[in-house]
Amino acid sequence: MSTIPYKTYLEESEMPKQWYNVRADMKNKPAPLLNPATKQPMTAEELSVVFCKELVDQELNDTDAFIDIPQEIQEFYKMYRPSPLVRAYCLEKALDTPAKIYYKFEGNNTSGSHKLNSAIAQAYYAKKQGLKGVTTETGAGQWGTALSMACAYLGLDCKVFMVKVSYEQKPFRREVMRTYGADVTPSPSETTEVGRKILEAHPGTTGSLGCAISEAVEVATHSEGYRYVLGSVLNQVLLHQSIIGLESKTAFDKIGVKPDVIIGCAGGGSNLGGLIAPFMGEKLRGENDYQFIAVEPASCPSFTRGKFAYDFCDTGMICPLAKMYTLGSGFIPSANHAGGLRFHGMSSTLSQLYHDKLMTAVAVEQTSVFEAAEKFARIEGILPAPESSHAIKVAIDEALKCKETGEEKTIFFGLTGTGYFDMVAYQKFNDGVMTDYIPTDDDLAVGFAGLPEV
Ligand SMILES: *Cc1c(COP(=O)(O)O)cnc(C)c1O
Repeated sequence: MSTIPYKTYLEESEMPKQWYNVRADMKNKPAPLLNPATKQPMTAEELSVVFCKELVDQELNDTDAFIDIPQEIQEFYKMYRPSPLVRAYCLEKALDTPAKIYYKFEGNNTSGSHKLNSAIAQAYYAKKQGLKGVTTETGAGQWGTALSMACAYLGLDCKVFMVKVSYEQKPFRREVMRTYGADVTPSPSETTEVGRKILEAHPGTTGSLGCAISEAVEVATHSEGYRYVLGSVLNQVLLHQSIIGLESKTAFDKIGVKPDVIIGCAGGGSNLGGLIAPFMGEKLRGENDYQFIAVEPASCPSFTRGKFAYDFCDTGMICPLAKMYTLGSGFIPSANHAGGLRFHGMSSTLSQLYHDKLMTAVAVEQTSVFEAAEKFARIEGILPAPESSHAIKVAIDEALKCKETGEEKTIFFGLTGTGYFDMVAYQKFNDGVMTDYIPTDDDLAVGFAGLPEV
């Protein structure tokens, strides 16, 4: 048996004190957000109507590689971090692979995912600005839960627009948020102008993330003392999530291991962006080489089949335009169970890195993802979130390739969360009635036709 431990934790003194901003090391910076009316880059002033001041500065900061983590946030992180870097000895043995497999597990907090890393930061800056509260959207519920926890801790009001289908199908997620004091509204709702418009155009709709974002932004911009916060996609979110990669890097350095392949699931790109950040920094600076793989659902293939173009982030088309790999804001993905990966666009930072061929992407089908999830649950003991299982699936595929070639690669993936609230999806899989809808080119053409002219 090797001397590498099953789990590597950091001492409190080894915990990161700064986040890492990968944009500082990118030669080709991600394109700026544009004002949808003027098509000019959004100014800090315009953005601060929607977002907290400090977060606007982080959003626009392409130059500072390191940004201090405020002491209060460091303290909060200590409640549930560091997260463990785990050597998947049991999985390696079961696969009979010469590859070495590691994962970073972010599911050890009540919200059940990595989203708390950014929720606490965003809530902290809102509080510091003297705001009353924040508004947001949530799809599957992880982001809403994380934000509710952060707001409860800091004494901020939290208004969550939850995609109606999840509100109805995931009542327990909703109750966790209410337990933490959040006000949860199913979206689309009659409480906003954009919600009423969407309901009129699509009566009986069960909603989408894009609709819920539009409603949350409307409420934030129309209520005194409120701002909007977003759980993924934005540069600021990737910055906060760099805590995942920074801890991993320190842990790997401690055990003297360098990963060869780094894999993460990609919804809006925040966990993947955070996981790879310090490793990508080394690659950008020419210090080290790594292979990065983004894994997305075949039902919502932004990277692998999307267009690199300016697009809206929301269905109501009130948010700034972002240049990203997108399927079009009008694209409504089929009912995939990995709710956190059902977004039409992708982080503009990751989109630029992908465009510059610094990382690769693969799309995988739902049933194969759940096969991997089941295997992982049985072998490694953790019941993974469907989103996270996308990364598991590709990590297993990579390990099996090594078995064929005899290569002893070190494979590292992000295990973003647990799947306890996703048992309806597991039930479908267990009952053998899970489907794998892949959009046709014609389906995608509808979304592309709605891309704005820039
Ligand atoms: C939200 C979520 C994701 C996807 O979001 P990213 O911003 O792409 O990281 C992945 N896994 C879990 C468990 C999530 O909650």
